[in-house]
Formats: sequence, C-alpha cells, structure tokens
Amino acid sequence: MKLRYSEAFYSVQGEGLHVGIPSVFLRTFGCNFRCQNFGLNRDREKSRYNPEVEELIKAGVHETTKRFEDLPIIHTGCDTYASIYPEFRHLVHDRTIDEVVDHLLSLTPNGCWTQDDGQDIHLILTGGEPLLAWQRLYIELFEHPKMKDLKNVTFETNTTQMLHTDFKQYLRNNQRLQVTFSCSPKLSVSGESWEDAILPSVASDYASVVGSRMYFKFVVADRIDIEEAVHAVEEYASAGIKPPIYLMPMGGRSEEYDLNIQEVANICLEKGWRFSPRLHISLFGNAWGT
Ligand code: SF4
Repeated sequence: MKLRYSEAFYSVQGEGLHVGIPSVFLRTFGCNFRCQNFGLNRDREKSRYNPEVEELIKAGVHETTKRFEDLPIIHTGCDTYASIYPEFRHLVHDRTIDEVVDHLLSLTPNGCWTQDDGQDIHLILTGGEPLLAWQRLYIELFEHPKMKDLKNVTFETNTTQMLHTDFKQYLRNNQRLQVTFSCSPKLSVSGESWEDAILPSVASDYASVVGSRMYFKFVVADRIDIEEAVHAVEEYASAGIKPPIYLMPMGGRSEEYDLNIQEVANICLEKGWRFSPRLHISLFGNAWGT
C-alpha cells in the first residue's frame, strides 16, 4: 500500500497548542467530510461541491493545472479542497513509505528531526483527514530507520475516526513519540451535521492513548458558533473528555464575519478558553505549502 498525499512542506505551526514550532506537514489525501459551507450561509442546501470548487471544475481547472501548488486558493468551504475531492487525485503523490520518508527528511534542516543542539522538528499529519485508512501505514512510517530521531507527532483530525486496534496498541506502547491529537470537531457553520461531527466516543478513543496530548479547536465566526461550541464542550465533558479548548476565528478577513478576532479573544478570556491565531497566514499569506 502506498501513502497518498497532496503536499508535504516545512513551515511554522500556525495554530493551537504548538504555535510557532518548526514543523513538517504531511497532508494526506481524502476526507469523510466536505465542509462546503464555511464562509457561506449555514442554511445553504448541500450539493456535491462548494460553489467555488464547482466553478473551478466547470472551468476544467483540475484538468489544465499541472501541479498541485499551482491550483487556485478559494475563500469558502474546505480550504484544502484539492485534498478532498477525487477530481484532483491525479495531482497528488502516491509514494511508498521509503519515498515518503526521503521526501519528509529533505524538508528538515540538516536532513534530520533532532538537531545537534537538541531542538526537534515536529511532524504534523494533516489533511484531508489523516486518520482514515492511512493509519495502517503510520507504524511503518514512524518505525522507519531514518525516523528514529523523530520525537513529536501531531494528528490534525476532525475527530470522527476511531483508531485502528493495531495502531492504538502501537501508540500506547511507544516510549519515544510525544503524540498530540489536535481535534477540530466541525460545527454547523461547516455544513456537516451535528450527529456526524460531534462524536465523544471518538475523542474518548484518542484519550485512551496514555501519555498523548489532546486539545479541541473550534472555528468560529458568529454567536451561533459560540453556542454550539459550548454545547459540544458539554457533550464531550459528559463523556469525561475535558481537554484545553481553543477558539480560532474563521479564515478570511475578520471584518467579513460577525465576530472579529478581538471579540473571539474576549470570549476566550470570559470562558477561560484559549485563543488560536492563524499565524502561518499572518506570516506567509493564504497559500499552499504554508
Ligand atoms: S474535515 Fe477538514 S479536510 Fe475534511 S472537509 Fe472539513 S475542513 Fe476539509
């Protein structure tokens, strides 16, 4: 089995618990969600595509664009649309684990995860949804002889996928890796349903990996999102899951949304929750590979 991924790049972690840490991002291909309504009316009826993606496909952009990184950036819906829609599959990599490892190491300073002064580069598995079927390849990836100095791994997940039995056992037994679950459950602003998106049993599954870290990150644009985040936090808490909570303003220009970034920060302060910036966008703009 080969790993299918749309891009790998070296950048600064811009969100959540590890903001500012130099990290290699591996963006796997495929997602069980579409999140097509971000930035649109939350009551918009779902269709096969987000309207911007539909325009791109109608214009044949998926056929005429030769490289993933040359695809246009869109401003509504899932911001990594080309990692989720099958129409873009031919633009992504299908690589063996040996090849993936060489690609990842080519991105790190000095071709290694831990530098001579002890500083380590994090590996971020993102997507798409990185905990789909790719889980079966991660043991091989993490145990590869060239990956022995890797210390920190984060899964950026929508928190809908249970861990496979073998992989969970591996993570529980592993003494080397600090594993972090960066959980971003989707609220109704995404267009996904509550029943599909808020799954405390899945968060409990991740929490059962002793020694791992977990935090929740909710993307918010208005008061309804805040109410839903409160409700979701209650549901998770009633299942015994009480990790740090982050609110992150929706991408795009904050003046387009009901809550600007200062208001989101003030709500965090009121509730004792944490504020997540999108540091990579402030630093590098909204682009692939950042
Ligand atoms: S869960 Fe994440 S990757 Fe999947 S569609 Fe939603 S925003 Fe995109």
